Amino acid sequence: MLSTGHARGACPAAGYQAFDRQRSSSSLIDSVASHPNPPRMLLAHHSALLDDLREPTALDPWRVLVSGCLAGWPCGVDGSDYGLGVMLGELLALPTLRASPFCPEQHALGAPRTMPDIHGGDGFDVIAGRAKVFDEHGVDLTASMLEGARAMLAFAQEAGAELAILTDMSAACGSQVISDGCRLVEARRWQKGVGVATALLLDAGIPVVSQRDFRALALLRARIDPGYAPPKDARDHQDHPWTLEHLPGPHPRADGPTRKPSPKTMEAIVPAPVDSPRR
Ligand code: SF4
Repeated sequence: MLSTGHARGACPAAGYQAFDRQRSSSSLIDSVASHPNPPRMLLAHHSALLDDLREPTALDPWRVLVSGCLAGWPCGVDGSDYGLGVMLGELLALPTLRASPFCPEQHALGAPRTMPDIHGGDGFDVIAGRAKVFDEHGVDLTASMLEGARAMLAFAQEAGAELAILTDMSAACGSQVISDGCRLVEARRWQKGVGVATALLLDAGIPVVSQRDFRALALLRARIDPGYAPPKDARDHQDHPWTLEHLPGPHPRADGPTRKPSPKTMEAIVPAPVDSPRR
């Protein structure tokens, strides 16, 4: 179910203010930037993370941070939800899941806005000062993107988020694939990596899955929806033919837990599609 704690499209600043009183705005950034080995808790790459999620109930549902646009907020750069609002409807409507939407870019930059993209790395590199975020006009949006990321993490912590389902390809919410430089050019480039907000969430120990990780999302749903049969052909973004063709090689932020999933999770894991090429 969708949390009713905040009006649709609103920027829930209360959580951010509470967080800001506890920790200075720069201390978290410093901790991520200097972290020798930040955790990379990408659910699509580590099925064992599913075992770490507790059994939810209707009274004590999973608390899930969701990109605002996936919840139907008109918070995209063009002031729409990109048509994503209906994508996860069935999953987010389950009574044992409470979705809390937030949009880091809307929080910091408003909507509509210009298009932010990371130049010179991914979200972890932005936090470490090795990369920057510019819009299509060359305006430096790095500080605003960091502000939005901090606000999203503060909101997630205030909501007790145990998991995040975020929109891929975004310079803030991306987790599998993001643009490599400005996307509004003829010869657009992509890279495997995470957005700025995703980097902070991962470092804070909140696992992330994208709306394009259909296999991981099916496994999640199977955990809390007994009548649901995961589709056999579901695949995560890294196994999609487009990704395999355009971005071969491992995800640079996908190292992390190496233990195997429990037998129960193994049993539920959807077999990889037989026609899926292997790296
Ligand atoms: S992907 Fe993230 S930053 Fe972009 S519109 Fe959706 S919630 Fe906002």
